[in-house]
Order: sequence, then C-alpha cells, then structure tokens
Amino acid sequence: MNKLSDYHIHTRLCRHAEGEPRKYVKAGRAAGLEEMCFTDHAPAPDGYDAANRMLLFQYPEYLQMVAALSREVSPRILFGIEADYYEPNDGFLKKWLKSQSFDLVLGSVHYIGNWCIDDPEHLVVWKQADVPAVWKKYFEVIGKLADTRLFDVVSHLDLPKKFAYRPRDAFIKEIVKPALDKIAKAGMVIELNTAGLRRPAKAIYPSAEILELALEREIQICFGSDAHRPQHVGFAFDKALALAKDVGFKHRVIFSQRRKTLVPLPWEGLA
Ligand code: ZN
Ligand code: FE
Ligand code: FE
Ligand code: ZN
Repeated sequence: MNKLSDYHIHTRLCRHAEGEPRKYVKAGRAAGLEEMCFTDHAPAPDGYDAANRMLLFQYPEYLQMVAALSREVSPRILFGIEADYYEPNDGFLKKWLKSQSFDLVLGSVHYIGNWCIDDPEHLVVWKQADVPAVWKKYFEVIGKLADTRLFDVVSHLDLPKKFAYRPRDAFIKEIVKPALDKIAKAGMVIELNTAGLRRPAKAIYPSAEILELALEREIQICFGSDAHRPQHVGFAFDKALALAKDVGFKHRVIFSQRRKTLVPLPWEGLA
C-alpha cells in the first residue's frame, strides 16, 4: 500500500487540466493513496492570470464537484485550493479564504511582476534574464507569502528551476534561508512536488539541499503530484518518499479543516 496523501490535484475548471474528478479518484485508488486533496487554482476577481483559473462564479461548481466525492473512503477526499500570492492580492484572499471551509490552502508564487516564470510561452524572458537575480527576487516573494499567514503549505518551493535555469547551489542555499526562516515562523509545511520530474528540471521541487535546510528549521512536509490529468495522481511518490527519508524526515503532515497532524512516513517503500 502506498499510504501517502496526494495534496495537489487540479480539475478542468482551471482550463489547463483535463479529466473528470472521478477518474482522478480511480487513479488514486489504483495508486493506493490514503487521501487526495483537490487544490484547483483559486479564482482572482481582479483578472490576475485569468487564463489559468476558474472564475469566481464557477467556484460553487468546484465545491459541488468535490463534495460529490465526499463518500469515498479509499482514498479519502479532501477539499482545498491552490492560491497564488502576488502583489497586491492579499485583500481578496484575506477575506475569501477565511469564508470557506478548506482542509488545506496551498500557497504558490508563479509570477514575478507580470512575468509568469513557469509558463513555457514566457521562456524567452528566461533566456534573457539575470538568473541569480530572478531567483533572489522569487524567494523574497516567497518570504512575503509566508508573512501573510494566509496559507498552510508552500507549493513547489524552487519552481524557478522548472526550465533548468538555475544559479549555483551555494547561491541558492544563501538566498533561500531567509524565506525558510519565515516559513518556519509561520508554521507552514513544505510540499514535495513531483511535477518537476515531468519538466526540464527533471527533479522534485524542492531540492535535497533546500529540504535539509528546512529540516534544520523543523519545517514539516507533505506530498503533491500537481496532477493536471488523472494519470498524474500519485506520480513518482516512491521517489518523493525516498528523497524525504534520505534527507532525514521521519514524519509527514496530514490536514483536516486546516489543522495539522503529524504521522510517521511509511516504513517500507511504496509498492
Ligand atoms: Zn495548473
Ligand atoms: Fe502552482
Ligand atoms: Fe498546481
Ligand atoms: Zn501548481
């Protein structure tokens, strides 16, 4: 049995994912997951990144889609959201996140200013970018995300490596530390996100080096596939579990109604 939870799953409402939620659940059952949490991209009434998210009026449809699965026991289905931190959006999120009853809220940074750093259509910007400066700015925004206290989990923490533009490890270690300090202070959890393995980065987000610094700060972890298709559910969780254990983690976090509980990592590898 897999005995892990996949806490990062999208639906077709975001316009760039496909497949019915039932198919995702079926895939999760086949993978032996204990829980799955749907975390589609949150609406942004100000029009931010409108091409990649549900509109606010579609939110009730999202709620119903997930509620329709609530009787599933294998895996259990949780209700969450992937919310973007960007400046200056925390006005809407501050009120809206509180007014909903999520099991967990992922916090993500996809944009630096007007540039979507993980959009292949914006790759030309990476080609001309001052790569270390971009990474530094990105982790500053992550620090601000943590300071808002609006989110439970920080998603794909070293997302700037997606297209394999990355500075030296020693530089990354230095610039990530202030962000990790803030994540620790906020009591946030870091996601081991396997989507990076499907990208030119060819690696889980975040790296072992960053996870070591997180463990030093007693930051806890959870797992996510960032599924945008049913077959992504539980993707490469064997590798993610091995990475977590290599770094020295003994536990993972499970969520319910935005409350954290620590559970031991599965003792054996995944079948
Ligand atoms: Zn997406
Ligand atoms: Fe994301
Ligand atoms: Fe996602
Ligand atoms: Zn994502």
